[in-house]
Amino acid sequence: MQKMVCTDCEWVGEPPKLIRGSGWIEFVLYLFYILPGIIYSIWRRPNMPVCDACSCRNLVPLSSPVGIRIAKLAEIRTRNLPAAGEPDPNSTFT
Ligand SMILES: [Zn+2]
Repeated sequence: MQKMVCTDCEWVGEPPKLIRGSGWIEFVLYLFYILPGIIYSIWRRPNMPVCDACSCRNLVPLSSPVGIRIAKLAEIRTRNLPAAGEPDPNSTFT
C-alpha cells in the first residue's frame, strides 16, 4: 500500500482502513439471514483509508503534488522547531 499524507495533521504513513458498521450486526444477520449478511459484509469491507493520528479521512497520496507539498512543509516545520528562540542544546559554547 502506498504512503498517504493527512491534510489536517500532516501525518505521513500507511493508513489503516476504516471498517464500517458493527461485527455484532454482521454476526446476527448471518445467523438469521444469509443474504443480508453477505450484503452487509460487502458494505462493511474496509475501503476507506483513515489517518492513524487524528482518524480523519482527509488523506492524499504522498506521491501527489499536494502530498509532496504537505510533507515538505511538515519537514521544514519540525526541523525549525528547536531553533525557535531557544539556545541550541548541541552548541559547544557554554
Ligand atoms: Zn490526521
